[in-house]
Amino acid sequence: MVSGAKQTRLYNKAKKFIPSGVNSPVRAFKAVGGTPVFVMRGKGPFIWDEDKKRYLDFCCSWGPLLFGHAPDALLKRLRSEISKGTSFGVTTRKEVDLAERICSFFPSVEKVRLVSSGTEAVMSAVRLARGFTGRQKILKIDGGYHGHVDSLLVKAGSGLTTFGIADSAGVPPGLAKQTISVPFNDEAALERVFKREGRNIAAMILEPVPANMGVVLPADGYLKHARLITKKYGAVLIFDEVITGFRVAKGGAQDYFGVRPDLTCLGKVLGGGFPLAAFGGKRQIMNYLAPSGPVYQAGTLSGNPVAVSAALWMLTELDKRDPWERLNHRAENFIKRLRAVISVEGYPYQLNSIRSMFTLFFCPVPVTDFASAKKSDTRRFSRFFHLVRKEGVYLAPSQFEANFISTAHSERHLETALKVFRKALKKA
Ligand SMILES: *Cc1c(COP(=O)(O)O)cnc(C)c1O
Repeated sequence: MVSGAKQTRLYNKAKKFIPSGVNSPVRAFKAVGGTPVFVMRGKGPFIWDEDKKRYLDFCCSWGPLLFGHAPDALLKRLRSEISKGTSFGVTTRKEVDLAERICSFFPSVEKVRLVSSGTEAVMSAVRLARGFTGRQKILKIDGGYHGHVDSLLVKAGSGLTTFGIADSAGVPPGLAKQTISVPFNDEAALERVFKREGRNIAAMILEPVPANMGVVLPADGYLKHARLITKKYGAVLIFDEVITGFRVAKGGAQDYFGVRPDLTCLGKVLGGGFPLAAFGGKRQIMNYLAPSGPVYQAGTLSGNPVAVSAALWMLTELDKRDPWERLNHRAENFIKRLRAVISVEGYPYQLNSIRSMFTLFFCPVPVTDFASAKKSDTRRFSRFFHLVRKEGVYLAPSQFEANFISTAHSERHLETALKVFRKALKKA
């Protein structure tokens, strides 16, 4: 059988029954071409596709798998938890324990609600901010992605960048008009917008380290500026830490950069590969939620006991193992060596990274915002993607995404990846 034959057959069948054959757009490989990978299983830093090819995985389920695929201790714990029941629609002790834990990781989070996806967390936080302030407008960043929330599908990153969809069809223009978008790292733009619209802005939402246009770092003082100006105008500052939470530091990017938002959205690492996310923040704002407050928000599977058990395991492990220093050291060493490789290769690459997440942009200018990210040579990225894929390394299948290193990626694994990258860069 030719390599990839089983997956090609699966893909053809998938396209018959699922739009574009996928349940989330970037999985379709439209950005890089070729037949999408169908994964059969994962363990540690590896995934195996349906044609039994093994890959060193840098996508890591788009971020959640800080401890790699299927850690034995988590599986063991879940087996025992699942035998007690899978959903009750009634509060469990575990939910209370998890909420307490989340608050202990994030000092800015005094109260928290659990939901089932990052999209839901953001959607709820935005509604809450509107209800709390009595204002309509939402300020976001060009290329910032916050899930597929209607009002935030304006100049959004991730799949929308990949496919060049500026705004999704199906979002009422009246709603989209309530969203203002500004370039990242541009303090003057923030000043202008707040001067003009400040009293109508319910919230400013941003990923403190944008990672859905590829990884982009905040300029010195930018997050502090966002904190000051939102405070000045009485707007709620929402940090979307769905990717950065529990990843860049114990208390997320807000811990790393020392800036406290009013509300925080969490997901990905928190659920450890299960559908679990959360939003939380100041008590005074969170108390606006139903039933004590006027802002409605609910979920049949919110606080699902299986997902909560996984999240509790994640946070307990994070507390116990305190993995960041070792993980960051290993990741930063890898990044440093990759930087040395690309400087030899000569083509203008931009390697943006923070701790265990990175994006290699095939871009002639430093990537500091959405406009510069879009100058990337996506065809060259696609060639690179397929070259490394052939050699058994799986990257996020788009130029405008982050790649992740887990604690299961050993020095030796990373050494292998470096060799593969070096070879592929010569040919891409
Ligand atoms: C992934 C992501 C989301 C959406 O989370 P889902 O669980 O996919 O709905 C929101 N915000 C950011 C920053 C993300 O990276």
